[in-house]
Amino acid sequence: MSDFVLRPSFTCTCGHTHTATVEDVLIGKGVVSRLPEVLARYGARRVFVLSDHNTDRVAGERVCALIRDAGLTAVSFAFRESPKPSEEYVGSAVEHYDYGCNAIVTVGSGVLCDIGKILSALTGHPHIVVATAPSCDAYAAATSSMERDGLKASLTTRAPHVLIGDTEILKTAPDRMLQAGLGDMLAKYVSICEWRIGHIITGEYYCPVIADMIRKALSKCVAHGAGLMRREDEAVAAVFEGLVIGGVAMAYAGVSRPASGAEHYISHVWDMRALQFGTPADLHGIQCGIGTLLCARAYEQVKAMKPDREKALAYAAAFDYEDWKRQLRSFVGGGAEAMIAMEAKERKYDPTLHKERLERIIDRWDEICKVIGEELPSAAEIEAILDAVGAPKRAESIGIDSALVPMTFRCTKDIRDKYVLSRLCWDLGVLEEIRF
Ligand SMILES: [Zn+2]
Ligand SMILES: [Zn+2]
Repeated sequence: MSDFVLRPSFTCTCGHTHTATVEDVLIGKGVVSRLPEVLARYGARRVFVLSDHNTDRVAGERVCALIRDAGLTAVSFAFRESPKPSEEYVGSAVEHYDYGCNAIVTVGSGVLCDIGKILSALTGHPHIVVATAPSCDAYAAATSSMERDGLKASLTTRAPHVLIGDTEILKTAPDRMLQAGLGDMLAKYVSICEWRIGHIITGEYYCPVIADMIRKALSKCVAHGAGLMRREDEAVAAVFEGLVIGGVAMAYAGVSRPASGAEHYISHVWDMRALQFGTPADLHGIQCGIGTLLCARAYEQVKAMKPDREKALAYAAAFDYEDWKRQLRSFVGGGAEAMIAMEAKERKYDPTLHKERLERIIDRWDEICKVIGEELPSAAEIEAILDAVGAPKRAESIGIDSALVPMTFRCTKDIRDKYVLSRLCWDLGVLEEIRF
């Protein structure tokens, strides 16, 4: 069913040696039955099984039975509700952890997996994830996305050693999580497009082999389309596999380029606002799906433009960074400080650096437009893919006022030290002209 074979490490034609974070990935119908074999590989004797009230019911009991039938001890802890990515839940997991255990099995996705990674990093014990939803691409990441001191933080933790995606379990995930998984995959259209554009404009590293891994995984997901909501094994496996490949590709590249771009930053801005101001937010992948459509619309407009040197230079000269800092702080709250500190080092708004980028953009405009044409489907095509699975397409569908979308988009250029669509729009002096 899944022909994905993880390459732990290989020397690539791009000149780099790519190394994966995870050691093994099992995907297919019934693969959870191989858990005892995996645990034996790591010399597990006493296994801490982390789940919550839902995932325990879906697969936790089965996992514990498999462990016990193999003659090992299972110590299970299930959160009574779905855990939030906060100190409280991490603390609770640490307090319930059994220090006699020498292996950890997380039964879950998203936050549970992130908490399992923290336990594994703290104890040094191997971590196996039995995934319960193909909902986001963080499974293979060596980081945990958490709230810390009221802000969102990406904590350096440890990637799981083995990921188990049993389609019989994955397909029990709610519709919304399946839609989210596909949304997080669609984001890869933008990320690969932006990686190539960033490579052209800033000269940053780009690996065509990794980009191709992502393209193949993404087209497999899209080919199955509506089969996902019918819970067809192949479709569910394709999305899980794609999400795992997204995480592995980031590890191979050593940067987040293969899997995230401006659409992820749209989602980040909404998450930051939710945390600071209690505004609505949805699943990461649902927001990424909407973000992908917004970016596809913006790219269509950019592709139809011709760079205007005088206009772009005048725009950059008139840009008031002090005023922009005030706007950032009021729109995203405390998270703005890290963005402002990053700019102090990066100086992307420096007129000299802008001028250099602008000349490169003008020189290579045809090539940039060609990349957009090659990598990105039209906004109408993205809409059709979202429609096929019934996923939300607009900010207001998830409770976010569409009037906030332009400001959200403007903030995305400051989120990370990465050349994304909103930066290209700023460099061209057209940021405020984009219509969503
Ligand atoms: Zn490479
Ligand atoms: Zn993602």
